[in-house]
Amino acid sequence: MLARRVRKALQEIVGEAHARFDPAQLALYAYDATPFAAPAQPDGVLMPASAEEVAGIVRLAGAEGLPVVPRGAGTNLTGGARAVQGGLVLAMTRMDRILAVDADSFQAVVQPGVVTEDLQEAAGEQGLFYPPDPQSADTCTLGGNLAENAGGPRAVKYGVTRQYVLALQVVLASGQIVRLGARTLKSVAGYDLCSLMVGSEGTLGIITEATLRLLPAPERRETLLAVFERLRDAAKAVCASMRSGVIPSAVELVDEASLRCLPDLGLDLPEAAAAVLVMEVDGSAAEAVRAAGRLAEVMQAGGACRVMRAADEAEAERLWKARREVGPSLARIAPLRINEDIVVPIARLPEAISGIHELAREQDVTCACFGHAGDGNIHVNFLLQPDRSGERERVERAVARVFDLVVGLGGSITGEHGVGTTKQAFLGLELGAEVVELMRRVKAALDPDGILNPGKVLPLPGLGRA
Ligand SMILES: Cc1cc2nc3c(=O)[nH]c(=O)nc-3n(C[C@H](O)[C@H](O)[C@H](O)COP(=O)(O)OP(=O)(O)OC[C@H]3O[C@@H](n4cnc5c(N)ncnc54)[C@H](O)[C@@H]3O)c2cc1C
Repeated sequence: MLARRVRKALQEIVGEAHARFDPAQLALYAYDATPFAAPAQPDGVLMPASAEEVAGIVRLAGAEGLPVVPRGAGTNLTGGARAVQGGLVLAMTRMDRILAVDADSFQAVVQPGVVTEDLQEAAGEQGLFYPPDPQSADTCTLGGNLAENAGGPRAVKYGVTRQYVLALQVVLASGQIVRLGARTLKSVAGYDLCSLMVGSEGTLGIITEATLRLLPAPERRETLLAVFERLRDAAKAVCASMRSGVIPSAVELVDEASLRCLPDLGLDLPEAAAAVLVMEVDGSAAEAVRAAGRLAEVMQAGGACRVMRAADEAEAERLWKARREVGPSLARIAPLRINEDIVVPIARLPEAISGIHELAREQDVTCACFGHAGDGNIHVNFLLQPDRSGERERVERAVARVFDLVVGLGGSITGEHGVGTTKQAFLGLELGAEVVELMRRVKAALDPDGILNPGKVLPLPGLGRA
């Protein structure tokens, strides 16, 4: 519990209405979207309205030795927004203004609490396009996206959040407010500290403003769905699609276990369907139509037993539902599930997917795979049946084996969800002890007293698995 003197000083910074210390409010902020994560109650929740208020809080926290945990919408899946060492949660949701959408220089200036979809819509109103599209875009915030370097289906063509960051305003652990990057498409003036902040999960600085790059909106999108009777053929078709001369704007895979949990979407999928690929191409009207035709040919040549091409937007939406409904449907049949987001070089995708299913069989656990196959990023979902004894231990063993497999294939333990607390024990497995140590030195240089989101990303003593 915070001393009265500290609470009063915090209230003076953000105003009484925006400083919460009552147990009911603190309990609300003890969670994020991470399954199985133990609640972690902060000692105070503060809702700053400006970079200056954030800086004031951070300076006070530094003087008092209090952890500071920035938080957007709390949709992260790796425990990142939980105050695992207590201290202050900084809920950034009042800083939710789109400060500018500049159509002439293809840029937007935003505060961190802007919901991602709101920027997508504001850009769209001016014929522009903000490509990063995490599937939580209607809820998550740009601050959270920047801190996690979020991706989504379109990353296969357009890349992840980092590719759209030109400049950031950041509050450092010292309480200094700095501007990193440049509002130009190119700049090589010194070390790229702006990129260092992206994906740093709130452990190196608190983002209080971002200048983001926008693109001209594509004129047309075409959507296809290809059905395969063998999962391996679908995985191989993903690689073939990338070699076909077309760069799809999305290639999403849904495996048989995921398909089986979907409600009837009126797609009349064949009984023997073992996987589907939902794909999108975009560009000028002529380019999109040509690319969709080429992609359909590639799918048929790759062994698809059926290829559907949406005739209009309503049909496109129906095809996309086969992908979008997977997460909610899995949650309905298995409320307890562990969702990993591994990524491999796409040439290794067939081995990765069949290896993961093999491991699940070996460990006697249920596994469903779906996700952004076009860039090799697969969501591996272990569905827990809590009435089976030893289930949690079997799933944990399966997860560890999946990480071994993925790292052995030259992949990464996380493509977009970050490390947080749930994967910190595996960071050394992928990066090696020397690189983890280098990261510790970067953290110590920027946050010598370790007040920014402590207990995240870097393995805790005795936890590392190299
Ligand atoms: C249904 C669902 C679908 C999802 N789909 C995707 C997907 O397709 N792609 C994807 O990448 N992720 C996905 N996610 C994960 C999640 O939505 C993203 O990680 C998102 O970027 C988190 O944003 P947030 O605002 O909720 O951040 P939070 O969860 O509040 O915070 C995430 C991290 O960012 C830090 N942080 C927040 N704001 C700031 C700031 N201003 N400065 C510094 N650090 C900050 C926090 O400390 C924390 O470490 C999904 C999650 C759900 C629940």
